[in-house]
Amino acid sequence: MKRAERSGPNNNGEIPLARRFKPVRGAFSSNFRYLFFGSIFLTLISFFITITSNSFQRFSIAARQKQLNSLISPDGLLLGHFPYPEATDSELVLAYPGLRLHRDAFIALRDMRAAAAYDGISLVLLSGYRSISLQEEIFYTNKSLRNQIAIERAKVSAPPGYSEHSTGYAIDLGDATMRETDFEVTFEGTPAFKWLKRNAAKFHFVLSFPRGNSQGVSYEPWHWRFEGTVDALRKFEPANKRLRLERNSKSK
Ligand SMILES: [Zn+2]
Repeated sequence: MKRAERSGPNNNGEIPLARRFKPVRGAFSSNFRYLFFGSIFLTLISFFITITSNSFQRFSIAARQKQLNSLISPDGLLLGHFPYPEATDSELVLAYPGLRLHRDAFIALRDMRAAAAYDGISLVLLSGYRSISLQEEIFYTNKSLRNQIAIERAKVSAPPGYSEHSTGYAIDLGDATMRETDFEVTFEGTPAFKWLKRNAAKFHFVLSFPRGNSQGVSYEPWHWRFEGTVDALRKFEPANKRLRLERNSKSK
């Protein structure tokens, strides 16, 4: 009885609860329906746009890659870079979250960093293993960002499938006390670089792209490759063979 009184029309002149809420709830549910179907529609549209733009991007990358492949020289170089296979998961170890290296390069780097630290030098590992698909992203994204043509781009970043980083043996190093020189030619003026020039060979690291290298790749004082095992040496044999031939022809 109490309940009927409370919701009755003459209870202090209030609108009965049932009548007060019913129309509001009706309006809400129809708005909600619009919102619900609208958001499903928008999700489907954005999903469709993403799929289309991704496949378009894949298509344009494939087209550009085809164009690039026509530039492969008789000795297998593409814009100055040798082809390199991807390291397998079992060969790679985590140097730190998000950065993997070939196990053998990792051990040599660990020893080298310890020796450098002993001499008061702090080496920073900037990058190591890169999958071919990541290299693809770097190569094409940087290219479009900087509006460079492929030939210019390849001087600073190898085309996908042609980066030493894919092997897990290549590393980019910086000087912890001069981070502004990361990936810059000015890295050659840092104590870290001077130390590397004197000591890296002891740990089987060599500078891949010295100034004026015969591959025609831009000078990269930060980029070193590990050649301390038979497997690593085999991977870099084409590059070293080219270097030997060039030295021989110069000394003749
Ligand atoms: Zn590099």
